[in-house]
Amino acid sequence: MFQIRLCLLLFISTIVSLQAQQPKKLKSSEIYEAVQKLNVLGSVLYIAAHPDDENTRLISYMSNEVKARTAYLSLTRGDGGQNLIGPEIRELLGVIRTQELLAARRVDGGEQRFTRANDFGYSKHPDETLEIWNKDEVLADVVWAIREFKPDVIINRFDHRTPGTTHGHHTTSAMLSVEAFDLANDPSKYKSQLTDTEIWQPKRLFYNTSWWRYGSQEKFDKLDKSNMLNFDVGVYYPSKGMSNNEVAALASSQHLCQGFGRLTQRGTQEEYIEFLKGDDLNGSENIFEGIDTSWNRVEGGQAIETLLKSIETNFNFKNPASHLPQLLEAYKLVQNLKDEHWKTVKSKELKEIIEACAGLYLEVSAKSPNAAPNSEVTLDMEVINRSTSKIELLSYQLSTLQNGTSKKITLKNNQKLNFEERITIPKNSDYTTPYWLNKEASLGMYHVEDQKLIGLPETPRAIFVDFNLLIEGTPISFKKPVVYRYSKPDKGELYRPFEIIPIVSASISDKVFIFENDQQKEIEVTVKAGKNNLSGYVQMAYPKGWSIFPEKQKIEIANKGDIQKVVFTVIPPKNQSEGLISPMVNIDGQFYTDELIEIDYAHIPFQTVLIPSESKVVRLNIEKRGNNIGYIEGAGDVVPVSLRQIGYNVTIIKPEQISPENLANFDAIVVGIRAYNIVEDLKFKQKFLLEYVKEGGNLVVQYNTSRGIKIDNLAPYNLKLSRDRVTDENAEVKILEPNHPILNYPNKITSQDFEGWVQERGLYFPNEWSKEFTPLLAAHDKGEKSKKGSLLVAKYGKGNYIYTGLSFFREFPAGVSGAYRLFANLLSAEKEDTISLKK
Ligand SMILES: [Zn+2]
Repeated sequence: MFQIRLCLLLFISTIVSLQAQQPKKLKSSEIYEAVQKLNVLGSVLYIAAHPDDENTRLISYMSNEVKARTAYLSLTRGDGGQNLIGPEIRELLGVIRTQELLAARRVDGGEQRFTRANDFGYSKHPDETLEIWNKDEVLADVVWAIREFKPDVIINRFDHRTPGTTHGHHTTSAMLSVEAFDLANDPSKYKSQLTDTEIWQPKRLFYNTSWWRYGSQEKFDKLDKSNMLNFDVGVYYPSKGMSNNEVAALASSQHLCQGFGRLTQRGTQEEYIEFLKGDDLNGSENIFEGIDTSWNRVEGGQAIETLLKSIETNFNFKNPASHLPQLLEAYKLVQNLKDEHWKTVKSKELKEIIEACAGLYLEVSAKSPNAAPNSEVTLDMEVINRSTSKIELLSYQLSTLQNGTSKKITLKNNQKLNFEERITIPKNSDYTTPYWLNKEASLGMYHVEDQKLIGLPETPRAIFVDFNLLIEGTPISFKKPVVYRYSKPDKGELYRPFEIIPIVSASISDKVFIFENDQQKEIEVTVKAGKNNLSGYVQMAYPKGWSIFPEKQKIEIANKGDIQKVVFTVIPPKNQSEGLISPMVNIDGQFYTDELIEIDYAHIPFQTVLIPSESKVVRLNIEKRGNNIGYIEGAGDVVPVSLRQIGYNVTIIKPEQISPENLANFDAIVVGIRAYNIVEDLKFKQKFLLEYVKEGGNLVVQYNTSRGIKIDNLAPYNLKLSRDRVTDENAEVKILEPNHPILNYPNKITSQDFEGWVQERGLYFPNEWSKEFTPLLAAHDKGEKSKKGSLLVAKYGKGNYIYTGLSFFREFPAGVSGAYRLFANLLSAEKEDTISLKK
């Protein structure tokens, strides 16, 4: 009792303020939990498709209550979603979400794995998903994850039997899991993996079901649950001062870029898993039924069990170091285990516990956050033993050097030792960047050649130090990656991973440049030095028919980290054309063509990503009428910036500025995406917008979601939104009214304008409208009925009301010509006065 109270008093956990960058420093209560976990030889793999799909309540329960080794296999890194905290999208968003998953696992105690599948965006059906993913490769990666992690139990987040009821990625994750369950143990399947791992048969497969699978709590309550297990995932952990569901909420609150910050929850909560496959439970409520999850599971485990169980039973919270002799004895026994898998897993756990019990602190920090290959960096090493145990530092070995440095120093209790080493980053070092982005990805897959990297959440650190110690006569070495430690007056101590960067990188100010006529434009290129005294020149690569001058510009940068900006003039061709431009920096005869992107958020470690530096240039054949556009913002999109790129004068109108007098200044008004879902004030301003149309204005309303609309009179006539969407960006678009002015004036719209679209055609199309509306286009996904609601136009008074669910907000940033031409037509729609003028 005294022990528990002590640990509560001293160690009520503060993982709320967990610093993503800080090295792990275990408290007594956490060492005790680690010892408990050390004594469980069982494992659970949870499988789903995206960051945030994972049920952190169950993962935390398996990890913290069952004490099983628990991992989440997310098929993708969530590259296809939206980012609520910053500008990163696509692969950069995938980098953030990868780190958010790792942050979530640091909270709930799980591990994290991935496959090479690329999150290409929404799909309605697994068939559609598997047309874009390479099924064989993703399945191979699921098999690889099972063979490597060797789970006893697999739990699917989604139901493999209900395709079409949720995101296609979701169902696919479950279907592949079911297939992989059998394949992992078949030595004839994915044979090449077996040079690096072994076959493995998981014992059981479950589906993490819920009442919503059955439509209502009532129906679920009545269900025969004899093939289900349930757990109270609200269990309270005194050692953490928190319930399991509180831990789970903190874990899922790490998904900040998806807006998952939420309140913690307490109290009893039932979670169900349905048995799908594997060994029968025989009525048992233990998911590990039939598996010995004690040390007796492995040959030679008995003696280890005796040693470690006694530590667990008699744990000394005041002086964990008193357990070191037994822990070291156990460590030696583990080294003799024949079972390589458990030997690896448990050695790692034991070393962490030994390090924590001894109050050992081993750190290598660089004097700068990064360095380029072939440049020098000073490393500071700190070594301290904060226990009375007999510990000797035999030597340390830098990964960049052939030979270790011999020391043979006894580490006296609480006497800090510091060593300094000046090293040269090897000339041929790889730059620090996510390994899966090294090769160009396809829409559905990342390409990774090294089998051993596949599935890893991040690139293993290239520069580290092995500290070779003798603890109470037992030799143990601890590997520490180099970090950068610094402080800020307003933040305190901070950590960053140490990075290897190129000597120079370059970026262009925008990702897309639209040329709406043959006028030249100036673009700005920023060159950043990765070393001191950088000298060279920068030139541009550009597509045929275009020209850029001057040909070269001189670069002189004195200090590492500083930038120099240069301006180039781009001259487009006479006719429609598009291509890529990219800066090439020449230093001592070698070209550098990458852009260095830094991702810096407080909840995840600092990230650097190297990608080819390039921007799209598009010469449009585009005509437009009118010039002044008013824009009412919805959920942040880049449509205003894009309209400015094609020469419109765009004014952002705040809801309180919407008045008849104000609106009268504009040739057209555009309502931003989901504005009627999120802008409360539009309820009171809609009448002015409709009046504007009546008086001869053009109003273009972009998509809103069908649920949560804040107004009744979205349009002047009946218009009902639905969840209709066309997710295939190449789905054929049928022009229903080829002679309609909007498809002819001022630009003639043809099927060509629907080529090269990205991600999707559109979403939340209306599916019911009154006769005043004319549907102009039709499209549908494979196997579905034609949908005509993507672009609807109605005359109202002297003006035009236009509603469109087409994804202009996605097409503009990708520089899709047809999207610009069509949107220009919407803004230029003929009004009564223009019609009469023409007559
Ligand atoms: Zn998902």
